[in-house]
Amino acid sequence: MEEDGDHAEIRAAVRRLCEQFPGEYWRRLDRERAYPAEFVQALTTAGYLATLIPEDYGGAGLTLSAAAAVLEEIQHAGCNGGACHAQMYIMGTLLRHGDPSQKARYLPGVASGELRLQAFGVTEPGSGTDTTSIRTFARRDGDHYVVNGQKVWTSRAEHSDLMLLLARTTPKDQVAKRTYGLSVFILDMRQASTAGLTIRPIRTMMNHSTTEVFFDNLRVPAENLVGEEGKGFRYILAGMNAERILIAAECVGDAKWLIEKATAYARERVVFGRPIGQNQGVQFPIARAYANMRAADLMVREAIRRYEAGEECGAEANMAKLLAADASNEAANACIQTHGGFGFAEEYDIERKFRETRLYQVAPISTNLILSYLAEHVLGMPRSY
Ligand SMILES: Cc1cc2nc3c(=O)[nH]c(=O)nc-3n(C[C@H](O)[C@H](O)[C@H](O)COP(=O)(O)OP(=O)(O)OC[C@H]3O[C@@H](n4cnc5c(N)ncnc54)[C@H](O)[C@@H]3O)c2cc1C
Repeated sequence: MEEDGDHAEIRAAVRRLCEQFPGEYWRRLDRERAYPAEFVQALTTAGYLATLIPEDYGGAGLTLSAAAAVLEEIQHAGCNGGACHAQMYIMGTLLRHGDPSQKARYLPGVASGELRLQAFGVTEPGSGTDTTSIRTFARRDGDHYVVNGQKVWTSRAEHSDLMLLLARTTPKDQVAKRTYGLSVFILDMRQASTAGLTIRPIRTMMNHSTTEVFFDNLRVPAENLVGEEGKGFRYILAGMNAERILIAAECVGDAKWLIEKATAYARERVVFGRPIGQNQGVQFPIARAYANMRAADLMVREAIRRYEAGEECGAEANMAKLLAADASNEAANACIQTHGGFGFAEEYDIERKFRETRLYQVAPISTNLILSYLAEHVLGMPRSY
């Protein structure tokens, strides 16, 4: 894949691929709560899920902006990258902190699609957003760790071979700082499923293949520890900016799809002898959503620019996620309202997108927590929690 400024070639190719997966495909999966295996396979075969994997390991070796372009176009085409987006940002932890043998063992398989690295086990029912309070514990036992505990909202666990797992290796009350004593593991779920790993699907308002996962004396080889024991929180945090930026790019794509649908319908639909889009009451919410989408897109680009220049980009990545999630949510509201009753009919795909994009007010980080971050770290106000 060649790189160019705005990745026009990649964008066009992704759109062509997405044309093979029209609304009917996603509606059927939505009804059946099924995983879009064919879609993920097509993206893998075309090399898009390996965008960020270096060429030495069989990937495309492209930048974050290319990955963002891929995900934005998937959403812009009305498809849903939620089925596989985590592979893009999970992999960064392995790339930055994995040892050469781990990279050689896993990355070529992930790049070729032979191995799926789609699951990210961080959130737990008892701790929620307060990640340092997680209780899943990995106890060293010879050349293994023995893992006990529970994760919740571990998306795609049933459709992944590997999970990036965050667990405590030193109890919270025995560390100098609450962020210490957490470690990251690559969990090979193919071997684990018969040896102490239980995965239970959670049905949600949208089709997201999310699960809860239980660990019962699960033995993980010590060689699967990523980086140094006890430094896992820092490793996960280092990947957060990329995660925020990529999710924001997806929200911009959603907003574009929703705004285009709303605009087209507003032009076509005639009530009281004229197009509904002739009424300012219909125009203005769509126009406002468009302005907010464009502003969010600029922040996404600024966050990417800083990220790629190696500059500090925590504030921009968080603001991009906040603004883009708000813009897609606003566009979804405007779109469903513009369609009147038809907005609620499955065959228009709008209620599906409305449900799908609503997630990003909460995950992977909720709007409140981003506002708290900005208040504390950018504006210098006291920490509120
Ligand atoms: C469909 C789905 C898929 C997901 N996929 C994954 C995944 O693959 N891997 C993974 O690890 N996690 C995943 N998550 C979890 C997700 O990251 C969390 O749901 C999210 O971070 C919020 O945590 P919580 O649900 O525990 O909410 P809580 O932390 O319980 O918070 C509940 C509400 O209170 C607010 N709140 C909490 N504390 C404060 C505060 N101090 N100030 C202001 N407001 C506050 C929050 O903003 C939120 O609105 C997923 C979640 C969903 C719904």
